[in-house]
Amino acid sequence: MIYQGNAITVTRRDTPSGNDIAMLTFDLKDESVNKLSSAVVAELGEAVKALQAENGLQGLVIASGKDAFIVGADITEFHTLFDKGEEYLVEMNLKVHAIFNAIEDLPFPTVTAINGLALGGGCEVLLTTDFRVMSEKAKIGLPETKLGLLPGWGGCVRLPRIIGADNAIEWIAGGTENRADAALKMGAVDAVVTAEQLEDAALDMLDRANAGELDYQARRAEKTSPLKLNPIEQMMAFETAKGYVAGKAGPHYPAPIEAIKVIQKGAGEARDRAQAIEAKAFAKLALSSVAFNLVGLFLNDQVVKKKASQYEKQAQPVKQTAVLGAGIMGGGIAYQSASKGTPILMKDIKDEALELGLKEARKLFAKQVERNKLTNEQMAEKLTNIRPTLSYGDFGNVDLVVEAVVENPKVKDNVLSEVEGMVGENTILTSNTSTISINRLAQNLKRPENFCGMHFFNPVHRMPLVEVIRGEKTSDAAVGATVAYARAMGKTPIVVNDCPGFLVNRVLFPYFGGFSLLVEQGADFQRVDKVMEKFGWPMGPAYLLDVVGLDTAVHANEVMAEGFPDRMAREGKTAIQVMYDNDRLGQKNDKGFYAYEEDKKGKPKKVTDEAAYALVKEVVKEQKEFSDEDIIARMMVPLCLETVRCLEDDIVATPAEADMALIYGIGFPPFRGGALRYIDAMGVAEFVKLAEGLAEELGPLYAPTDKLRQMAQNNALFYS
Ligand code: NAD
Repeated sequence: MIYQGNAITVTRRDTPSGNDIAMLTFDLKDESVNKLSSAVVAELGEAVKALQAENGLQGLVIASGKDAFIVGADITEFHTLFDKGEEYLVEMNLKVHAIFNAIEDLPFPTVTAINGLALGGGCEVLLTTDFRVMSEKAKIGLPETKLGLLPGWGGCVRLPRIIGADNAIEWIAGGTENRADAALKMGAVDAVVTAEQLEDAALDMLDRANAGELDYQARRAEKTSPLKLNPIEQMMAFETAKGYVAGKAGPHYPAPIEAIKVIQKGAGEARDRAQAIEAKAFAKLALSSVAFNLVGLFLNDQVVKKKASQYEKQAQPVKQTAVLGAGIMGGGIAYQSASKGTPILMKDIKDEALELGLKEARKLFAKQVERNKLTNEQMAEKLTNIRPTLSYGDFGNVDLVVEAVVENPKVKDNVLSEVEGMVGENTILTSNTSTISINRLAQNLKRPENFCGMHFFNPVHRMPLVEVIRGEKTSDAAVGATVAYARAMGKTPIVVNDCPGFLVNRVLFPYFGGFSLLVEQGADFQRVDKVMEKFGWPMGPAYLLDVVGLDTAVHANEVMAEGFPDRMAREGKTAIQVMYDNDRLGQKNDKGFYAYEEDKKGKPKKVTDEAAYALVKEVVKEQKEFSDEDIIARMMVPLCLETVRCLEDDIVATPAEADMALIYGIGFPPFRGGALRYIDAMGVAEFVKLAEGLAEELGPLYAPTDKLRQMAQNNALFYS
């Protein structure tokens, strides 16, 4: 035994040719995966010292004792580490560099046996060795830019020297996870073998290096010297990439561009200088609010996943499902279920509707074939997972039903009672209603404990969120099965309690309320859209209303006004109502706040329509001037306040779930972290002051809650 720690063991052993080598194995005790926490990195330093002190070694294999190799740094430590400031972070990374460099400089050949996922810091570890052998099942990558960071433990220095600057830019700026075949093709690894062959292949590589067949010193020299690029190659690799990546990432995500700049600046330098450049740039990004929020998002996502796993444990298996209604939503649900492998019956009352639902599913599958994600055979097989029907004939062995018929309480009551009589006693019934209370729908059921809401977002195949709505009588088993099914469909379920609008629409409609008030006071709705898009929303409120449908918006608004009359009921018409009254329903009839024309790809393209402006005049009461900042405050404050109310009313259990629901459900700008993170970033006291000022002029939609005022006084935060 050369070294024994909590995460790392180093032992001596012989290779088949009799070379005396060391095996360094990562196997973090009491954890399911290997992570590079500060403690594990410190251990690695100790293990390397032990290796340096050992006599007679002729090689090193770095390996993992778990299914994954190393999943990365320990992200739960990031906020605490980042709080320590720039200087600390530079120092920290230089210390890690010293350890990694020591591995790279060991006086014998080294190889990594990559058995499974190797991401971030885990990938940077394997770049230190002379050779890499990869299991065909493994994946490697540097996803740091997705967290608003860049690879800070040598990834920006070593990867371009191993696979070339252009390939490294693609991996690092895209944050991609790369399969073994792709990694081999690019030269990131030297061999790909089966999991069983991995260790032998690694040992063989050391034997060949010791026999002089493989030149490990040449490998090392290449990795530690400046990149060999002439000016034209430099220009091609860096300038072209910067233009392309900036366009793709957008102005709110600086990390991919910073990573390219680091690769570029370090390209002409030897190892230590290039690493110093990387350390400095990492620290700068780590202190940005974007990185703070994206790291927060990662941690929130972990919370959401963990909760879902806990719910899932209470679930009976969901092997066969059914959807009632083959419309926009029913068709989408059938496609998604079939695509992810759960067979689904699709029932409607009209043959034409079934035809349409199937046609939509076929279209989506065909797109997958076009993109080489499916073969024709796979498409045909997946399509057989959808069974269209006009009768309840086969409903006896269905585990879970999603009701997605028209949004009419009477129709839904009838359909739900009807289906309850056709299914087994343990079958879970769910409704995709957007606005009808789950408790109300449960009243007509014989087994209300088996019923809950399962609220998808449009378009189903694209939107990641499913709100699972627990009614007063819903059992844990029903919630569990619904969560399990949502996950099997590749969605992110978030469990909420019943109230008008549930969580997401309850928060979205006050935002539309803010929009209506702005228009009334003379703001140009296209300008509001532009300001909010610049703020980071995928589409501004007027455009979003056109996409949602003005009829749907008016109807949902009525429900919200009835549920929360104090702040959501309005006297007089809104711009939204005016559009609806004039049969401008948005994209569904090609006119709303904008008019819609077909673009070359057959997709609706919005254009300015003077007729919409003429109609809106009816509700404009004054002509106020608004700065961009005013517009943002008037839009964001009601949305954030309603999120606070949902948390206080126990509609949603944690800030993490609330923020993730907004990001996944309505495209809240991810780099801003969610509504509650947004309040935290502004400071609760500052936010309360802003809201109170607006409430004086605009009324209760902008009034902070007593609890929030208290939080402001106590300097409390939603995320401590
Ligand atoms: P849709 O009008 O496109 O489809 C409804 C379908 O239900 C039609 O095909 C109709 O023939 C069928 N239907 C009517 N009565 C039926 C019955 N007794 N049995 C079986 N099928 C019957 O509506 P949609 O937009 O798909 O909405 C469906 C549900 O999803 C509604 O509750 C809606 O509020 C909700 N929802 C819609 C959206 C959206 O953006 N469209 C988003 C989330 C939730």
